[in-house]
Amino acid sequence: MAVRCVYTDLDGTLLGRGASLFHDGDGEFTLLAGRGLEACHRAGVEVVPISGRRRAQVAEPARLIGASAYCFEIGGGLVVDGEERWLCGDFQPRDGRTPWQLVEESGAPALLLDACGGAIEPHTPWDRGREVTHVLRGRVDVDAANALLAERGHGGVRLVDNGEIDADRSCYHLAPATASKAAAVAAHMRARGYAPDECIAVGDSREDSEVGAVVGRLYLVANADPTIPTAPNHRHTESANGAGFYEAVVEALMA
Ligand SMILES: [Mg+2]
Repeated sequence: MAVRCVYTDLDGTLLGRGASLFHDGDGEFTLLAGRGLEACHRAGVEVVPISGRRRAQVAEPARLIGASAYCFEIGGGLVVDGEERWLCGDFQPRDGRTPWQLVEESGAPALLLDACGGAIEPHTPWDRGREVTHVLRGRVDVDAANALLAERGHGGVRLVDNGEIDADRSCYHLAPATASKAAAVAAHMRARGYAPDECIAVGDSREDSEVGAVVGRLYLVANADPTIPTAPNHRHTESANGAGFYEAVVEALMA
C-alpha cells in the first residue's frame, strides 16, 4: 500500500545540531532534510511533526515546512488544520487550568523530584510556558519512577524518556498517562482516515519507538537511542538526523 503520511520527530531526527533543519548532527550544512520533505511533497505525502516541545515551538517549524497538523508536548496536544484537541485523560483542561497546572496540583512532580533526591531537576529554560508535561533532566530509572508514582496514588501520570541531552543526562516528561506520541498519531490517523500500512514514523527516542505500534513501519535514525527494544516493523537508517529522515522517506516511497 502506498505511503500517505510520514510522522517525524524534530529534535535529533529531522533537525541537526542546534535544532537546525539545514545542519547535520556534526554542524555541517545539509539539504537532505529538505530533500526528504520535497520527496514527500512531490508524492502527495503528508508530513506531521511529532514532538515533546511546547506548542509554539512546534507550530513555527510546522509552518516552516508546510505541515498543517502536528502534535506537541509528546502528544498531550494535537492540532489538525488549526483545530486543537487534548489527549490528557483525567487532566483535560478545566476551570481555566491547563493540564500542566492540574498535574502540578496533583503533587506528582514534587513527589518525584523529592524521591529522586537531585538525580533529576526541571529542564530549565524549556520547562517554562508549558501546557501539558513537566519536563525534567538528569538520569533516573524510568520503570522504578513509574512504579513509585503508581504506588503513591499517581497512576494517572507517567514518566517518559524523551532521549539523551548529553552523555550524562536524558530528557524526561512527566505527562498524563493517556498522553503519548503513539496516541496522538493514532488520533491523527483516524481524523485523516489513514490505515497503518499507509503511514511510517521516523524518530530517535524510546517514546518515538512506541509509535511503531500504530503505524506500518518505524524508522530509527542512526543516532537513535541504542537501547530501544526492536520490533519486526522497525528499520534502522544508516544515516543520522535529517539524512536518516531522507533515507527513510526514500525507502518507504519506493517500497
Ligand atoms: Mg528526538
